[in-house]
Amino acid sequence: MRIIVTGGAGFIGSAVCRYLIQGTKSTIVCVDKLTYAGSINSLRAVSENPRYSFVKADICDEVAIRRLFNEFCPTAVLHLAAESHVDRSISGSRDFIDTNILGTHTMLEEARRYWSNLAGEDNERFRFLHVSTDEVYGSLGTHGLFTELTAYDPSSPYAASKAASDHLSIAWYRTYGLPVIVTNCSNNYGPYQFPEKLFPLMILNAYEGKPLPIYGDGSNIRDWLYVEDHARALFLILENGRPGETYNVGSRNERTNLQVVQGICRALDELNPKGRPHDRHLAFVTDRPGHDQRYAIDASKIERELGWRAEEGFTSGLVKTVKWYLDNEWWWSPLRKEVYAGERIGLVKVE
Ligand code: NAD
Repeated sequence: MRIIVTGGAGFIGSAVCRYLIQGTKSTIVCVDKLTYAGSINSLRAVSENPRYSFVKADICDEVAIRRLFNEFCPTAVLHLAAESHVDRSISGSRDFIDTNILGTHTMLEEARRYWSNLAGEDNERFRFLHVSTDEVYGSLGTHGLFTELTAYDPSSPYAASKAASDHLSIAWYRTYGLPVIVTNCSNNYGPYQFPEKLFPLMILNAYEGKPLPIYGDGSNIRDWLYVEDHARALFLILENGRPGETYNVGSRNERTNLQVVQGICRALDELNPKGRPHDRHLAFVTDRPGHDQRYAIDASKIERELGWRAEEGFTSGLVKTVKWYLDNEWWWSPLRKEVYAGERIGLVKVE
């Protein structure tokens, strides 16, 4: 396959690029605007490989994206580029509308233009995989799981912008026949995640002896998926998924935020004994506005139809992740110093 990976310098996109180069025979071009969340350092492991190339571009720039399609001649697109942090979407939603909605529209339109000029097998085999989130489904109560048929009910500006992009993607399949597949995935964790998200923020704050801010009472539940399991799932869906379909991706690892942070502290107590007990830094803070209570994925469709199953256990994945951050200060230290030091974002201000 020749694959365009948008957002490949981000957390999941870089895991996807590493997997495609190291685990498949694909040739890829990573397309990324390199916003605050993108780091070229996340691609160091593949950057010298002849099957890998990088183009700095904004997915809203239709001229750049058209040129990319015409020059690279992809057989598939893995579309991950997005503004992805809920708290930032509360503080400022504009970039989310631009990139997640208009940027996805540009990608769909340029893919359609390119694909409709392909003939025969090239046309039939082309795929556009739009990567989305389970947050589009809104919040669950104590029971039930999100299935592919759950109605959309997004709460945050981030989730609403992703919901819009999912609807556009499916509309491009139904209206134009573009072979689009949508995936909705639960929260990811693992190496190379920008240190604003729960796992890296808590690991680094605990390691540096800073407060560990727990939103509300810490009872909100997320369903955690190790990022490398996600990367594997995306390639499998690209190869074998059915156009026009949605696939939920998750690994049945529901944990409260408090359980996650306590797990991180326990792992750090083992790996960094001089800082123990790390949970002395726990600090309960004002909740996130519109904070969804619970997400949980029913992954039986991808398991049944495509034979995918998450391989990483939650405890082993958590320990691996903590260890990765301790061993890779070269990656996160410049980001903590120059891009984001951990200050609170996403409280609603009265203007
Ligand atoms: P991320 O914020 O780590 O990375 C996003 C990447 O997109 C960055 O490299 C950034 O530079 C790039 N980007 C942003 N705007 C761009 C633009 N206009 N043009 C080109 N590139 C641009 O995000 P992530 O956590 O890796 O998420 C990737 C995708 O997966 C997103 O679509 C997100 O909605 C989805 N997703 C994420 C999670 C999660 O837990 N992180 C869960 C489910 C779905």
